[in-house]
Amino acid sequence: MRLVIKYGGTSISSAKDIQGIANYVNSLSKHNDIAIVCSAISGTTDDLIEISQSIKKENKEKAEQLASKIINRHKQLAKQTIKKSTTRKKLLEKLDTDFQELFALIEGMVLLGEVTPRSMDYLISFGERLSIKLISFAISDIGKKSIPLTGKDVGIVTDSNFGESKPLMDTTRLRVSKTIDLQFSKKTIPVIGGFTGADQHGHVTTFGRGGSDYTATIIGSCIKADEIWLMSDVDGLMTADPKIVKNAKLLKEVSYIEAIEMALFGAKQIHPRTFEPLLTKKIPMKIRNSFNVKNEGTLVTDSPSISTKNTVKCVSNIRHNGLIDIRGGSMVGTPGTAAKIFATLAKAGINVMMISQNPSESSITIVVKNTDLDKAVNVLEMELLGKIIKKLEVTTDVAIIALIGLGMRGTVGVASKVFGAIEKNKINVAMITQGSSELNLAFVVKDSDSNVAVQALHNAFELDKIN
Ligand code: ASP
Ligand code: MG
Repeated sequence: MRLVIKYGGTSISSAKDIQGIANYVNSLSKHNDIAIVCSAISGTTDDLIEISQSIKKENKEKAEQLASKIINRHKQLAKQTIKKSTTRKKLLEKLDTDFQELFALIEGMVLLGEVTPRSMDYLISFGERLSIKLISFAISDIGKKSIPLTGKDVGIVTDSNFGESKPLMDTTRLRVSKTIDLQFSKKTIPVIGGFTGADQHGHVTTFGRGGSDYTATIIGSCIKADEIWLMSDVDGLMTADPKIVKNAKLLKEVSYIEAIEMALFGAKQIHPRTFEPLLTKKIPMKIRNSFNVKNEGTLVTDSPSISTKNTVKCVSNIRHNGLIDIRGGSMVGTPGTAAKIFATLAKAGINVMMISQNPSESSITIVVKNTDLDKAVNVLEMELLGKIIKKLEVTTDVAIIALIGLGMRGTVGVASKVFGAIEKNKINVAMITQGSSELNLAFVVKDSDSNVAVQALHNAFELDKIN
């Protein structure tokens, strides 16, 4: 089999874990061609982002202090992980070259006194540049050939939209397949840095936070992998957040479209574009736990087997949001009202999570993160109050409860079951949305009611008996 295995940051954060992965991958490679993708070691990307903030505040000392923290951590891991002294020495030398470049970069950014999207991407790409070397050398250390490759090295070419780039798939496919086929022919395991690529001028770009998942599926699609495994520290996708629902169950199988919804709403954060490259190639993906490899995890496929086609598969909640009810008589029958509202919010960089408009058109209700609420209300008041908007009503601390499942489509009685269960618990619903795909039914309750609501729905749909 051709396999792409992606490791998240927490899976590679100790010498023992890295050695475990090296052994595991080595034994799998006896019968399979394996390409590894990995994230930065947990916390590294956060530290790099903090460096950029220190640079913005002209605090060079703090920036260098954080860089030293990153350096020490990787050096220590290198020393603890690698047993052969020659291999260890070579790794430390390679890491030193990266460290020098990191310090030079910080120096340069401090001198310029600015953080541009381009320099930011270059800076935050260091996490994966370092982690791939640790993993790859750990594999070599046990006698299996391996090579560390950054996204740029492997041939991922993107547009120049720094911070949120997209791959140019045709060029990428040609280059990536050539690079990886060559390594496979040499029986060498490529360890590829997730999250990054390079634009056509060779400048390093990133896909946005959590982008290593996306790298894994890009690579998988380029090399026509038979399976892609996303390894992290959770067993897979669950019917609900196990911290809220004690009897939450692991989902054995879900479809791509369900997984996309769950990635947005679920406890396991997956980069939203991860599934895009899989849709045409229909490559199966497994979401698995690197600390519990006996568990098969969740299989994500184009068409899950009939037995798991429950109406609802998962109840999730996102807390700490704010609801804004936008009202005004002149909104009624006026084309362009919604466009103006959303353009105003977009200009201020505010992401809208939920939208509903009643057919009388006299109000539009939106949900944004609590942290964006102040700014959202402010720009709407500044730009539109007294014009198309007459009144804004704000509710803070609300939760979005979302039910996800393909089987809801065309099934009669789902809504009554949902709101019946909610009513029994005397919970007030502030807003409801359901797209016509009927894949996701979502509503808004107070944060303080959300745990009870999730548990009630989990019970109502008997999700503890799902598999
Ligand atoms: N290291 C990057 C991040 O923390 C990418 C990833 O982990 O997927 O966002
Ligand atoms: Mg990460």
